Amino acid sequence: ESFHDVDLGEIIMGNIALSRYTRPTPVQKYAIPIIKAKRDLMACAQTGSGKTAAFLLPVLSQIYCDGPGDAGKGNGQDNGKYGRRKQYPISLILAPTRELALQIYEEARKVAYRSKVRPCVVYGGADIGQQIRELERGCHLLVATPGRLVDMMERGKIGLDFCLYLVLDEADRMLDMGFEPQIRRIVEQDTMPPKGIRHTMMFSATFPKEIQVLARDFLEEYIFLAV
Ligand code: AMP
Repeated sequence: ESFHDVDLGEIIMGNIALSRYTRPTPVQKYAIPIIKAKRDLMACAQTGSGKTAAFLLPVLSQIYCDGPGDAGKGNGQDNGKYGRRKQYPISLILAPTRELALQIYEEARKVAYRSKVRPCVVYGGADIGQQIRELERGCHLLVATPGRLVDMMERGKIGLDFCLYLVLDEADRMLDMGFEPQIRRIVEQDTMPPKGIRHTMMFSATFPKEIQVLARDFLEEYIFLAV
């Protein structure tokens, strides 16, 4: 088992080496080839399993393949005499808490190091003006908590029209915390590319009825993985 089993590209392989990850964890070993094959995924994995890198490595690898420069034609397209306004991330990762969102963001920065991909993070309970200023510098990959993302969308700061990669991390916790309306609002609004067009991955520690329903609604012919 090695990270070399799947072609993640030179930049990512270099960044894996910098992180001193020598071999993939089980969830990485199984999830990375599934995601690289562009299959929708429902993965049952616990915190500490290495699930963050399991979705970040292949998603960022896909963004590099697509080319962050033009895949995000939306990015910065509003630049003009009125300044930068709306950002159109290519990839969105939803997480239940500020702590988890920040952890994912930190890992995304490591994986995106020396690439053109710019990660951003938005979460509630912190100064929204500061987060908007960060977004306005460009955003290809957005890590967000659901409530703050809805707020940003309503303020016209984020558009999901070009969002081709969607990850729901700790989906069961997001539902436990009552975020289902916000999540449905984000995913089911008409500008988000529909399932089958976008590539969707769900991670959850448990797989109760409510998560099965969400998977049925959000995923297209998905692969179920339990590690
Ligand atoms: P996670 O389950 O994504 O929260 O990851 C748990 C911890 O494992 C984090 O501190 C990661 O940096 C670390 N980690 C993830 N993948 C690997 C790997 N392949 N080898 C060593 N450590 C890893």
